[in-house]
Amino acid sequence: MFRTVLIANRGEVALRIQRACRTLGLRTIAVHSTEDAEAPHVRHADAAFCIGPAPARRSYLDQTAILFATEVSGAEAIHPGYGFLSENAGFARRVEAAGLTFIGPASASIATMGDKIAARNAMREAGISCVPGSDGPLPDEAAAAMELALRIGYPVLIKATAGGGGRGMRVVAGPSDLAPALALTKEEARQAFGNDAVYLEKLLEHPRHVEIQVLADHHGHAVWLGSRDCSLQRRHQKVLEEAPAPGIDEGIIAEMGERCAAACRRTGYRGLGTFEFLVEDGRFYFIEMNTRLQVEHCVTEMITGIDLVQWQIRVAQGEKLDLAQRDIRCTGHAFESRINAEHPGTFAPSPGRVAAWDLPGGPGVRVDTHVSQGSVISRHYDSLIAKLVVHGSTRADTLARLQLALDEMRVGGIATNLDLHRAIVRDPDFVAGGVDIHHLERRLAEGGLR
Ligand code: ADP
Repeated sequence: MFRTVLIANRGEVALRIQRACRTLGLRTIAVHSTEDAEAPHVRHADAAFCIGPAPARRSYLDQTAILFATEVSGAEAIHPGYGFLSENAGFARRVEAAGLTFIGPASASIATMGDKIAARNAMREAGISCVPGSDGPLPDEAAAAMELALRIGYPVLIKATAGGGGRGMRVVAGPSDLAPALALTKEEARQAFGNDAVYLEKLLEHPRHVEIQVLADHHGHAVWLGSRDCSLQRRHQKVLEEAPAPGIDEGIIAEMGERCAAACRRTGYRGLGTFEFLVEDGRFYFIEMNTRLQVEHCVTEMITGIDLVQWQIRVAQGEKLDLAQRDIRCTGHAFESRINAEHPGTFAPSPGRVAAWDLPGGPGVRVDTHVSQGSVISRHYDSLIAKLVVHGSTRADTLARLQLALDEMRVGGIATNLDLHRAIVRDPDFVAGGVDIHHLERRLAEGGLR
């Protein structure tokens, strides 16, 4: 059992985790860069340690500094949040080796799922189908890749086994493009992830991104907590999410949910996790598993009424999950708009001082943010400034709440994507529900959503 948690993150997620710890009676330790010395996650913590200068690789990604701060502070557990070190198996291994608790799955689970080929193979063994593609990394000779691509059928997608965050993927339309695309993707993967292994997947042309949240304890118990639809994406990055995924038969979701929970039991997975699928023509294809708390966890919290971060910490304490699958009920609908500090049109980050900051309110409205009037948005970190989450009884009612909340929200001094969100929630196809992963980019290319 631990009493003190070091939160190895910043921004809204550091505050989210701090709140969960507080409500469980746990002490919290913040770490921060020099740039974040005045940040709210630092102000609200029981103690705080500066771990380096502004660039993340010299602070929030500095494993040794974080482990040192943990030792000095007397913390017995580390919560990595999302991003930064949250899916770094090497870091989780160092935390375990130091006799501390990593609030997340075992480092071995992170390592397996962080290798997309190993993850695909593990899922196939668990009876979950994957996007058609290679069984292992592609050999260096282009001839073998050519043969496989022909068998799968063009267009294909080259993917880095170590890829993440929408990076390390390249579409190949036909055979003449394959060899150069392969060389380029391998080189990019080597530079970005220190691992140039790549594999092939069939490019699905009009899928939806649907994911299943799971929660598992150390005692072989696992449950699934409904579905989320994250099809609204730009450059493979999620922009707006909802729960449940609209228009998908509940029986199919329940069957997929059961298989995901069973896969967790079978592999001894523990903590929170997300199984990501592409869904095309009613069929589910596994693409990857995220072994951490996700940005969009809030929409699941809203429809289930379950505090996922509290449970993540409680199972890390060794507590038994006292939630049975039949106790989990999804009520109503929820949306999350990711509000970013970025320029409309170019999507370039827009750092600077927040001169005006008016948040929306009313029934079913939740804003997770670390920003307030006068905050300075740093150019060194992610551009997410707030998550606007709304809950309501039906999808239509909830969408009306989201439209109003987006209209009420005002941010001055920096550029944001608020207008993009305002346009999305009035887009007739989005309002109808069930758009595919290319919808947003298609609309943007047409000059729509202005
Ligand atoms: P990452 O780890 O970078 O998030 P994912 O494998 O989760 O990568 O894929 C991210 C997004 O890329 C998906 O949500 C989807 O939009 C797109 N994508 C991934 N695989 C395919 C595929 N086989 N066909 C079409 N789109 C894909």
